[in-house]
Amino acid sequence: MSYRGRFAPSPTGHLHFGSLMAAVGSWLCARHANGEWLLRVEDIDPPREMPGSAESILAALPAFGLSADAPPLFQSTRQHAYDAAFEQLKAADLVFPCWCSRNDLAGGLHLDGHCLAPPMPDRTPAWRLRVPDIEIRFDDALQGPQGQHLRTTAGDFVIRRVEGLYAYQLACVVDDAFQGVTEVVRGNDLLDSTPRQIYLQRCLGLPTPGYLHLPLALDGQGRKLSKSEQALPVDPTDPLPALREALAFLDLPVLRHAREPAALLAHAREHFSPARLPHCSERAVA
Ligand code: GLU
Repeated sequence: MSYRGRFAPSPTGHLHFGSLMAAVGSWLCARHANGEWLLRVEDIDPPREMPGSAESILAALPAFGLSADAPPLFQSTRQHAYDAAFEQLKAADLVFPCWCSRNDLAGGLHLDGHCLAPPMPDRTPAWRLRVPDIEIRFDDALQGPQGQHLRTTAGDFVIRRVEGLYAYQLACVVDDAFQGVTEVVRGNDLLDSTPRQIYLQRCLGLPTPGYLHLPLALDGQGRKLSKSEQALPVDPTDPLPALREALAFLDLPVLRHAREPAALLAHAREHFSPARLPHCSERAVA
């Protein structure tokens, strides 16, 4: 099967350094493998979205030289697919409706496989996946062998929220399979979501792609970049400085005199191999 990668931003703001780095990393892995690189706009959570963000991110990527091989998939058009996956889980008795409040759970995990609150027919429930006591193991291509005891880490996690919105975990696995993604390359902040996604793939009979989690970008004070002022948008009208920084962050050669993003990327691609990527879970941006 030929390589197919993807970049899947949530439209909650403009493209920032962390997301540019993930886009560059996944693009280089795909191009290195002579594979395809697809885009997916994860617009399934309207309350968290910023108007104009999807357009702004999609317009910025080509300015950084990052071209996709197909038009982007918008998750807002995929409700029927999530409904079908949800019905499949329901038919297999793998989910249960839950009226428990945060207070009921006292801030802890839901571990019981059934709702602890009395059913409230006049209130829409959330739906949780019944999670068994298993360890999910996988080999991350950069972070190495991983294992997570799903029940004690994630518990019976929500796949459909009270508002009727599907959770990221469900939409992500349904669409990675729909888009035929063979390798997921993304930021390390999603490493601990991966076991939930692998378990959902097993429940739904979907293939499990390979995973590679890039180091999380931190600021000089060790804070996650997206939580600090360096989460300022990168400037697509002046793409070279941020692109150089993203390549340097990934330990890739930076062609100092390049005048075009395409030349910078072509040089990095020539010298790229996934083994060159920094083998760490997080690092500060220079
Ligand atoms: N939409 C997620 C984000 O912007 C990324 C999801 C993924 O790559 O699986 O953080």
